[in-house]
Amino acid sequence: MGDFERSPADVIVVGAGPAGLFLAGLLARQRLSVLVLEAADTFCQQTRASTLQARSMSLLSRNGVPGLTNLRQLKTGHFAGVGIDLTLADIPFAGQWKIIQPELTRLLALWAAECGADLRFSSPAQAIRLDDQGVSVVCSDKTHLARHVVGADGSGSTVRSQVGTRRVGHHGRRHLIRADLPVTDLTPRRFQKMNGLVATASQIASDTTRVMLHDPAWGPGTVLDRVQLAHSWAAATGEPLEGLPTWIDRFTDSVLVHDSQPDPRVSLIGDAAFDSIPVGGESLNSAIADAHSLAIALSPDSAGSTGLGKWSASRDIAHRAAARRIRYQTRLLLDTDKQSRQDQSLLDRAVRGSRCLERRLAQLVSGSTM
Ligand SMILES: Cc1cc2nc3c(=O)[nH]c(=O)nc-3n(C[C@H](O)[C@H](O)[C@H](O)COP(=O)(O)OP(=O)(O)OC[C@H]3O[C@@H](n4cnc5c(N)ncnc54)[C@H](O)[C@@H]3O)c2cc1C
Repeated sequence: MGDFERSPADVIVVGAGPAGLFLAGLLARQRLSVLVLEAADTFCQQTRASTLQARSMSLLSRNGVPGLTNLRQLKTGHFAGVGIDLTLADIPFAGQWKIIQPELTRLLALWAAECGADLRFSSPAQAIRLDDQGVSVVCSDKTHLARHVVGADGSGSTVRSQVGTRRVGHHGRRHLIRADLPVTDLTPRRFQKMNGLVATASQIASDTTRVMLHDPAWGPGTVLDRVQLAHSWAAATGEPLEGLPTWIDRFTDSVLVHDSQPDPRVSLIGDAAFDSIPVGGESLNSAIADAHSLAIALSPDSAGSTGLGKWSASRDIAHRAAARRIRYQTRLLLDTDKQSRQDQSLLDRAVRGSRCLERRLAQLVSGSTM
């Protein structure tokens, strides 16, 4: 176990992803002592998410996170594949804003450190102990003590497994492959259904296009590599996929929500609490919203464990609502059967016929809680 760090922190955040870093900066701005323990020796370099919703832009900008002024703005988005004019949301930063995750993480880390958070890399949390003194986080070389510990350590969360939280929801059955390619000449597509497959292509940087493909015939045993991707892409779209992927990702349509908060001194945020297929940017953006709302609940002015209990209850409601939206959207986006096509065209007609519905969906897609 090694040394015991004598002076306890107010809050230890386990994980320096977007959720942990945003929370750490917000808490440090309130003059709380914050220690961030990150397992890796640097920030995650995987592209992962590339879109900030309006609400996230608002939260990050309002709190002084730098580097967000020149991001590319998209004024249209979609809900379950149905095009939505996002400017109808009528909120600050209406639209979606493009930034790849490693860049966002880098900006958040600089900002969190400037706010006064103590960031320590190569410090994997191995165990969590709860006793009368507080909460201890055991790393290989040291044990750290705090009043409160936050698990922001991603979908495979050590904190979550240490405190024994269950995850409930839907375990994925649809398989997808996604890749970033160093090309810019692919036809843009948004969950286009062709020849029984579903294909998406969109340029996410000046030299990079992200493609995503789903074939209902794929199962757990299918090898989803770049050869399979190129082969199936050509079968679906008739286009050859050229260039070696700079990033490749396989995932399913699982949507898992953590079930309960066993001890008020430990909280889970981001992917540690809500792990889902990234439809509509819900994953990254709900992680940012979690961090923001928890920072309020942990603030020196809030009502202690009562405030945390309320935070946990309302956040769980938000996660469950997001999970329902994601399940609904996933069915319409990825199923190629007659029923899903009919439902999608019904939704499309309803949206085209009602500005009010389009506005409401624009707000939902923007992450607005109005
Ligand atoms: C492959 C992949 C692709 C994704 N694509 C998208 C997408 O397209 N759109 C979208 O919206 N979202 C996507 N997501 C989700 C998105 O990346 C997350 O929602 C976002 O990063 C916020 O997550 P987080 O900060 O909670 O966790 P993460 O970003 O996963 O950060 C967790 C951090 O905790 C660290 N850690 C883990 N275990 C420990 C430990 N024991 N001790 C200390 N540190 C630890 C990790 O090294 C990591 O730095 C994707 C996620 C993955 C994994």
